[in-house]
Amino acid sequence: EGNYDSFITYYDDSIREKLLREHMITNAMKRAVDEKQFVIYYQPKFDLNSECVIGAEALVRWKHPEFGFLSPGEFIPIFEKNGFISELDYYVWDCVCQKIASWVETGHSLMPISVNVSRVDLYNPKLPQLLFDLINKYKIPIQYLHLEITESAYTDNAKQMIDIVNEIRKIGFVIEMDDFGTGYSSLNMLSDLPIEILKLDMSFLRNNVGRSSGRSVIQFVINLAKWLGLFVVAEGVETQEQAIFLRNMGCDYAQGYYYSKPVDDSDFEKLLLETHLC
Ligand code: C2E
Ligand code: CA
Ligand code: CA
Ligand code: CA
Repeated sequence: EGNYDSFITYYDDSIREKLLREHMITNAMKRAVDEKQFVIYYQPKFDLNSECVIGAEALVRWKHPEFGFLSPGEFIPIFEKNGFISELDYYVWDCVCQKIASWVETGHSLMPISVNVSRVDLYNPKLPQLLFDLINKYKIPIQYLHLEITESAYTDNAKQMIDIVNEIRKIGFVIEMDDFGTGYSSLNMLSDLPIEILKLDMSFLRNNVGRSSGRSVIQFVINLAKWLGLFVVAEGVETQEQAIFLRNMGCDYAQGYYYSKPVDDSDFEKLLLETHLC
């Protein structure tokens, strides 16, 4: 009986703590954009064969003056619930476009930067126009802004989302399918959505690489992607061994700590000057 009591107390405390933290994050988010607390990091993507940089992913970071560094893994799900994600995503895309425009101006070597598009954004019919206006606002060539859409955005009521994604593709944006291998509807998505690049989720690779049947699944997915004419990016590559394994399987590109962690814009610019581009 005593154990049961302490379980209830423990359970209450952890829920209360979670709610408090969520409340704290919700209160703090409103001024965070204006006060420039959100900063963008860039993680380069590498060609597994030539080892040159072929692009990068923009990942948001929140540096709060009191609470310190908050992880997107914590605040993004909260923003997806309360709707703030759309405002944050737009802010991130705007910052990235501005950066790309500045690289055009300074004569930096250019490569596509991929931004994340939340599942919430994909149900907004104004999204295609909004993205188109953004490209025009900064006058950047459309091929330099890629859009990563997460597999989990594809749910039962996908028709509307499929229409929106098709419209975005028609404008000329390259679409990357993020987190592939984590959901349940993966194969339908491949034929329903106009994607060019498939990103294999880190957990999908981790779960399968240890068994021979799992390795066959990885090989199958890569072959399937090739048959469909897609490029394949492996996420979360941390060792040379993993890079060689993926290259042997015919995977095109990799992103992960083995090559580079996400870095801030000035480090990313340095990396661009030092690294061989394709
Ligand atoms: P994601 O889009 O799948 O991004 C990849 C995550 O894996 C990033 O975590 C990245 O730092 C991490 N990562 C990269 N290489 C490695 C590796 O070798 N090992 C390990 N262990 N991790 C690696 P991050 O930056 O914490 O982002 C987490 C998630 O938050 C992202 O997953 C994405 O779903 C979301 N997110 C981040 N920025 C944005 C954004 O601007 N908008 C939206 N909507 N979501 C975002
Ligand atoms: Ca992503
Ligand atoms: Ca991903
Ligand atoms: Ca992921």
